[in-house]
Amino acid sequence: MDAANDKFAVETVLAARFVHEPVAKKEAKPSNSPVSGPKKHARGFSLCPNQPRGNGGNSRRFRLVAALSVILAVAAGGILAYSSGIFREGPVMLVISAKGQSVVSRPLKQIAEGTIPVEGILGTTIVEVKQGRVHVLNSPCENHICMNTGWISNPGQIIVCLPNEVVVRLVKE
Ligand SMILES: [Zn+2]
Repeated sequence: MDAANDKFAVETVLAARFVHEPVAKKEAKPSNSPVSGPKKHARGFSLCPNQPRGNGGNSRRFRLVAALSVILAVAAGGILAYSSGIFREGPVMLVISAKGQSVVSRPLKQIAEGTIPVEGILGTTIVEVKQGRVHVLNSPCENHICMNTGWISNPGQIIVCLPNEVVVRLVKE
């Protein structure tokens, strides 16, 4: 009976080992798999479970603060631009430069309707002013991009004749 019990005990131990070994291998397999392996490793090896959470919270807070400061800066800039526009709302200026030098810089309303000849490096660019709008009527450039730009009437708009080095801008003073 004792011998039989011992044999049974040995068998159960062997059986237990036999059972445990595949389980251990099964546990090891997912961590070795390339897809889920690195993440599980990172989590498994973190000594303090609160540390990653704490870091995540800090970076999130930092991002939130950064985002808020950016929003505030943009808002402040917008308010400044808006208020400066209100406080010194000047007329729309027609600014024409040729060969890098300013040729015309006057309020658009003060400029008589008609054509303005502007001397560029290739020849004369004809700028026409009509009913609060400006366009390039003719230019000695080959591509005529300036002429094809058409009429401009709002501050911030620009016509450029790159070959003739003529720039026609409408700006708000
Ligand atoms: Zn042109």
